Amino acid sequence: MREGPIVLITGGASGIGRTIAESFLELGHRVHVCDSDPAAVASCRDEIPEITATTADISDVDDVAVLFDDLVGHYNGLDILVNNAGIAGPTAAVEDIDPADWQRTIAVDLNGQFYCTRLAVPLLKSAGGGSIVNIASNAAFFGFPLRLPYTACKWALIGFTKTLAMELGPHAIRVNAVCPGSVAGPRIDGVIERDAAARGCPAGDIASLYRRQSSLRTFVEARDVANLVTFLTSEHGARISGQALGVDGHTENLSSGFD
Ligand code: NAD
Repeated sequence: MREGPIVLITGGASGIGRTIAESFLELGHRVHVCDSDPAAVASCRDEIPEITATTADISDVDDVAVLFDDLVGHYNGLDILVNNAGIAGPTAAVEDIDPADWQRTIAVDLNGQFYCTRLAVPLLKSAGGGSIVNIASNAAFFGFPLRLPYTACKWALIGFTKTLAMELGPHAIRVNAVCPGSVAGPRIDGVIERDAAARGCPAGDIASLYRRQSSLRTFVEARDVANLVTFLTSEHGARISGQALGVDGHTENLSSGFD
C-alpha cells in the first residue's frame, strides 16, 4: 500500500504527463491522472496497475468536478497538482485563425488550468501546504510566429503562476511554471509538419530550425521535464516558488528564421 504524497497530473495518460506520472510512481507517490482520451486512459490503467485515472476534459467544468470527486474518492486529499494538459492549437497567420480554434486553445490551455486549480487549492490548504506546477513552454518567453493562441496562453500561465504564488505562499503552497523547449515525440512531429505545410517547405528544414533555436542544439526528452517537476515538488524545491523555469537547453529565439 502506497503512502507517499498524492499527485494529480492532467493530460497524464500519454506524452510528457505520462512520463511525469511514471517518475512520481518511481518515487513512491500516489498518482492520479486525468485525460480526455478514453483509449489512452484505458491503456494507462492496463500498463500501470498502481495508477488511478479519470477520463475528463479539463476545459469542461463538469468533467473537472467529476475528476475531483474521483480523486477525493480514491485518496481523500491532494499534495501536488501538475497542470500539464495542453494542446498545440492552430498553426496559422492571425487572419487565418478560425475563432473556434482560438477558443478551443484558450479553453484547454488556460481555462482548464483554472478549473483544476480552483478545486485543487482547498485540498492543498487542508493538507497544510503543497505544490502546483504549471507546464507552460519556452513560448512563454518569446513571440512565436504562426502560434498566436498557444503563445498567448503560455504567457498567461506565467501571470497565473506568479499571482497564485503570492496568494498561496502564506498557505505553504508553492506554485511554479516549467517551460519545456521542443520535446522529442509525436506531438512535436505534428507541430513541425503543420509549420512546414504553413510555410511550404520540407519538414526536415523546420526540424533543424527548431533544434537551432536552442543553445544545446537538441530537443528535450520528456524525462528532462519530469526531473524538474519532481525536483520542484520535493524538499529540494522547498524554497522555490513563483518561478518560470526553462527545460530547453537555453532557447535563443523562437522566430522562424523565415520572413
Ligand atoms: P500531448 O499532445 O502528447 O498530450 C498529452 C495528453 O494530454 C494526451 O494524452 C491528451 O489526450 C491529453 N489532453 C489533451 N487535451 C486534453 C484535455 N482537454 N483534457 C485532458 N487531457 C487532455 O502533449 P505533450 O507534448 O505531452 O504536452 C504536455 C504539455 O507540455 C502541454 O501543456 C504542452 O503545451 C507542453 N509543452 C509541450 C512541448 C512539446 O514539444 N511536446 C513543448 C513545450 C510545452
